[in-house]
Amino acid sequence: MSERADGGHVSGDPDDDVTRRAVRRARQAITEHERTVPDFPKPGILFRDLTPVLADTEGFASIVTALTHGCSGVDLVAGIDARGFLVGGAVAQELGVGILAVRKGGKLPPPVHGVDYDLEYGTERLEIPASGIDISGRRVLVVDDVLATGGTAVAASTLMSLAGASVVGVAVIMELADLGGRERIVTELGPEVHLHAITDDR
Ligand code: AMP
Repeated sequence: MSERADGGHVSGDPDDDVTRRAVRRARQAITEHERTVPDFPKPGILFRDLTPVLADTEGFASIVTALTHGCSGVDLVAGIDARGFLVGGAVAQELGVGILAVRKGGKLPPPVHGVDYDLEYGTERLEIPASGIDISGRRVLVVDDVLATGGTAVAASTLMSLAGASVVGVAVIMELADLGGRERIVTELGPEVHLHAITDDR
């Protein structure tokens, strides 16, 4: 799932015992602690609240291990506002690289790189600083809690390109498989961008 052509992994190695155990523990924690909220933030949306899983010691540790063990070839993590900050920071620390906060629109002082895009439940804007930080040439792992339509991951990738960096992988806790995010990542970012999800809702 996350194997590179050279045999390395840009996110947790699914064939590795440590990763497998961590995935199993993380899935158990998700089953135990996830809060599902119908009709939030809009009618018809089933909101998957994973923050109680992150607040669980075992849940948080196993998620971070599942996303990072055996990973190489990443030199920057981009965490998506806001739950992606929590996971992304820990993932970056584990990988020994820096973390870039990809902010919702209007939070950062100018100048910024910005992208508008459609979300499962509305429209959104993401921004990163366009000054004071040089990420050109970096190989970026995008980290978020949930992958739905894939619009956020694609927008984050567009932002990285605007800043001269390239996304090599997308790592999430949960993939909402019916919403086509995986397919969109392949179509819009290319098959060489690896998607790693600890669990899906199939
Ligand atoms: P998307 O761009 O459609 O892949 O949506 C992913 C982003 O929106 C992530 O930052 C998620 O936190 C959030 N999101 C979208 N749908 C849901 C959902 N059903 N439950 C929780 N978060 C969601």
